[in-house]
Amino acid sequence: MINMNNISKQFGDLVVLKDISLQVEQGKVVVIIGPSGSGKTTLLRCLNVLEQPEEGSITIDQQTLKFSEKVSKKEIREFRRQTGMVFQTYNLFPHFTAVENVMEGPITVQKVAKAKAREKAVDILTKVGLHEKMEVYPYQLSGGQQQRVGIARAMAIDPKVMLFDEPTSALDPELVGEVLQVMKKLAAEGRTMVVVTHEMSFAKEVADEVLFMDNGMIVERGEPSVLFEHPKEERTKQFLKLIK
Ligand code: ATP
Repeated sequence: MINMNNISKQFGDLVVLKDISLQVEQGKVVVIIGPSGSGKTTLLRCLNVLEQPEEGSITIDQQTLKFSEKVSKKEIREFRRQTGMVFQTYNLFPHFTAVENVMEGPITVQKVAKAKAREKAVDILTKVGLHEKMEVYPYQLSGGQQQRVGIARAMAIDPKVMLFDEPTSALDPELVGEVLQVMKKLAAEGRTMVVVTHEMSFAKEVADEVLFMDNGMIVERGEPSVLFEHPKEERTKQFLKLIK
């Protein structure tokens, strides 16, 4: 489903991703962990081309972008439609209600008629447990509820891949569980997901594969039971010791 080959990205002189390759099969959940500044968010943003790498290629499903060649805005737009991104800070439209936030993508991206978009948004919001909150504005919602709207919005365009960038980091501890619960449900449905998170219990329970990143590289990868219990690399061991 996802095939990322030899991706490199720098900001000015700072090399943030160094020759990263990553494959994710359909229906699998990959969790990316690593210290602050190691390039996790940048990797995720390259996957939907919010950041454009200098080198390498990315394939999602049938579509490939080669970054050594010129990539048009249209190609990027089409590529991005295959992904649904959930941001740390929700990024909801403040002047739209919950249901309007979820309808926005299908209406503008997929040109779906308003009534149909609403119907779909209602279904998805019900699925994330927000049936009662359809008509309220983001400021009237708790952080956990806002993030569930964020997930619903990402789902609304039927993405082939869901990308989560530290979706619970901005939440009060008591609100983390409800968001992880929704993510577990999506994983159980067989969605392809790439998740950057510090929630190691989620990684242990849900990930098919965990990647440990440091300094712009994937240092180690493996099944969670192996990576967490028997890390091979010294840097992985040090990181896991610090977060225990
Ligand atoms: P955290 O866990 O703190 O979010 P991260 O592993 O996700 O960290 P990134 O956000 O990918 O790390 O950042 C990697 C490096 O790239 C950092 O040194 C950061 O300062 C730098 N960086 C990220 N975005 C930009 C940008 N738009 N311009 C310049 N430098 C950037």
